[in-house]
Amino acid sequence: MERTYLMIKPDAVQRGLIGEIICRFEQKGFKLVAMKFIRLTKEMAEKHYGEHADKPFFAGLVEYITSGPVVAMAWEGKDVIAVSREMMGATNPSKAAPGTIRGTFAVDIGRNVIHGSDSPASAEKELAIYFEEADFVEWNRTVESWIVE
Ligand code: UDP
Repeated sequence: MERTYLMIKPDAVQRGLIGEIICRFEQKGFKLVAMKFIRLTKEMAEKHYGEHADKPFFAGLVEYITSGPVVAMAWEGKDVIAVSREMMGATNPSKAAPGTIRGTFAVDIGRNVIHGSDSPASAEKELAIYFEEADFVEWNRTVESWIVE
């Protein structure tokens, strides 16, 4: 089953949106398999966002993402990588469709409330930054057959 890395960013934690955001993925039918409430170190942030190191927004991004606690999560499900990106909406909340997470809860690209892996390769890389193999919980959801045929 496909796995992705989702992170509730510091602005969403501060604004009391943890429950709202987790609720959407639960209700959709995805399965939570790992979760941590942590504060990123500068090193973790730089590793996570390494591909943006030469961008003008990089310093601000690292400062923002390390400014307070985040909820780091691994979710499993059918097409979870692409579908969770759709549920999040565009990177810039001003362009995010109404009803998406960013479209509903955010207005600024520098405070866009959630991160989600954008490909299987980035999911693998990002999950490895936040979790060890022992952090992933194997569990059977009793409603599974009502969610996936
Ligand atoms: N970001 C920013 N300013 C920009 C572009 C991106 O602050 O002009 C931040 C924003 O928090 C975004 C993150 O950098 O979520 C990573 O950017 P990416 O293009 O990878 O978007 P994402 O995958 O998060 O939608």
